[in-house]
Amino acid sequence: MDKYDIKKLEQYDIEFVWHPFTQMKEYESKKPIIIERAEGVYLIDTEGRRYIDGVSSLWVNIHGHRVPEIDDAIKEQVQKVGHSTLLGITNPPAVELAKELIDICPSGLKKVFYSGDGASAVEVALKMAFQYWQHKGKPNKTKFVCLENGYHGDTIGAVSVGGIDLFHAAFKPLLFKTYKAPSYYCYRCPLGKTYPSCNIACSEEVGKILEKHHEEIAAVILEPYVQAAGGMIVSPPGYLRRVREYCDKYNVLLILDEVATGFGRTGKMFACQHEDVTPDILVLGKGMTGGYLPLSATITTQDIYDAFLGDYEEFKTFFHGHSYAGNPICCAAALGNLKAFKRYKTLEKLKEKIEFLEQELQEFRGLKHVGDVRNKGFMVGIELVEDKESKKPYPPGMKMGWRVAEFAMQEGVLIRPLGNVVVLMPPLGIPIEDLSKLVKVTYRAIKRATEGEV
Ligand code: PMP
Repeated sequence: MDKYDIKKLEQYDIEFVWHPFTQMKEYESKKPIIIERAEGVYLIDTEGRRYIDGVSSLWVNIHGHRVPEIDDAIKEQVQKVGHSTLLGITNPPAVELAKELIDICPSGLKKVFYSGDGASAVEVALKMAFQYWQHKGKPNKTKFVCLENGYHGDTIGAVSVGGIDLFHAAFKPLLFKTYKAPSYYCYRCPLGKTYPSCNIACSEEVGKILEKHHEEIAAVILEPYVQAAGGMIVSPPGYLRRVREYCDKYNVLLILDEVATGFGRTGKMFACQHEDVTPDILVLGKGMTGGYLPLSATITTQDIYDAFLGDYEEFKTFFHGHSYAGNPICCAAALGNLKAFKRYKTLEKLKEKIEFLEQELQEFRGLKHVGDVRNKGFMVGIELVEDKESKKPYPPGMKMGWRVAEFAMQEGVLIRPLGNVVVLMPPLGIPIEDLSKLVKVTYRAIKRATEGEV
C-alpha cells in the first residue's frame, strides 16, 4: 500500500479514466473507492477499508479472491508462455479447458470457440447461427428472436438482440431488426397474467412468432432462468423447456446466453440444467476464470460445427477470431477455477447457502417499499417500489437503488443496483457468516433509504 500515492491516484483517476456505465459528472464530484487488494470475499481499498464483494465484482467472481488454485495456475503458466494465437495453432491450457468444459456442459455440446468477453462470445453465436443456415441451404433464415428486458452485452450485434431501452434506445439506427417476445417478468407480467394460472403464456408468445416466421428465423436467443441486467428477473419453471420444444418444432436454433447464469450462479453449473435443456449454442463468460481474467466461449453442437466443414476454396470457414482467443494464461485460470469447484465441493456446499439466503430474504417481503423479492440460487433481485399496492416504481431521479448501495457501502458492503432493483450476487464461496452480514446490511440499507430508519 505504501508504494501508492493515494492523492495522485485519485487525481489521475478523475483526470484520465473514463469509467464504464458511469455518469462521469457525478463520479468526478466524489472521492473514488480505489481497490488495492482482496482477501476471500473482501475487497480492500487503499485506505484499508474492507468491503464484502456483494455482486462478485460485477458477477464474475466465484470462489472469492486470491484462490490458491487459480493463483498457482496463472503463475505456472506465466513461466511458460503469456500468449500465442489460436488461429491455426494451439496451446495446452486451451485444449485441456475445452475438454473440461465439454465434460461439464449439457450433453450434446461438442465444440468450444474461445473469445475474450461475453459480448464477443454473443457476437460469435449470432454469426455462427446466421452462417449455419447459409451453409445448410436455407439462406432466408437470417433473423433472430429475443426477449424484452434481455441483455447480451454492449457490442452492436449483442445490443441488437438486447431489450433494455435505457441502454439500447440511443443506438437504434445502428441495430439490425429482430422479433421481440415478451419478458418472463412475473411481477410485472407484460401479458397481464398471473403464474401459475397463466400456464406460462409468455413462452407461447415465442411459439407464435416461430409459427408465423420460422422460415426466416435463424435462432432464438435468451438468458435462461434469469434476465440478469434486466433486473434479476426470474423465469417461471418450465419456460425454458417450452421454448426448446418450440425451437425443435420449427427448426430454429436455440442460443442460451449463460454469461451471467453460468458456473454455478443459479445453483447448478449451468441454468439450462435445471430443465435438462441443451441449447444448440451455449455462451459462457464472466465466471469462467473465477473472476480473474477475461475469457469467454461459444459452445456448439457437432451439427453446427460440421456445417462449416469444406474444402479450403469453398470458404465455409468461420471467418471470425479475436487476438487473445484461447489465451493460455486465461485458460489456465479457468482450469484453476474448475479445480477449485472440485476441491471445495462448491456446488454441493452451495445448496445449504441458497436455503439460508432464501430464508433470510423472506424478511424483506415485509418491508414497506419492497415490491418483489426474487432469486434463482445466488442471483437475487429486490425490487423497490414507491407504492406497494399499485407497484408504482420510484422515479429514476430518486436513485433509490443507489441510495441503498450508498448506505450499504458505509457498512462495508459493495453492491451495485439495476435501477430500482437491489442486486445481490455474492461469490459462491462466501462463508455463511459473511452471507448473513451481506443480507443484514442490505436489509438495514433498504429500510434506511426507503423509510428513513436505521
Ligand atoms: N450476456 C449476459 C447475460 C450478461 O449479463 C453480460 C454482461 N453483464 C454479457 C452478455 C456481456 O458480457 P461482457 O460484459 O463480458 O461483454
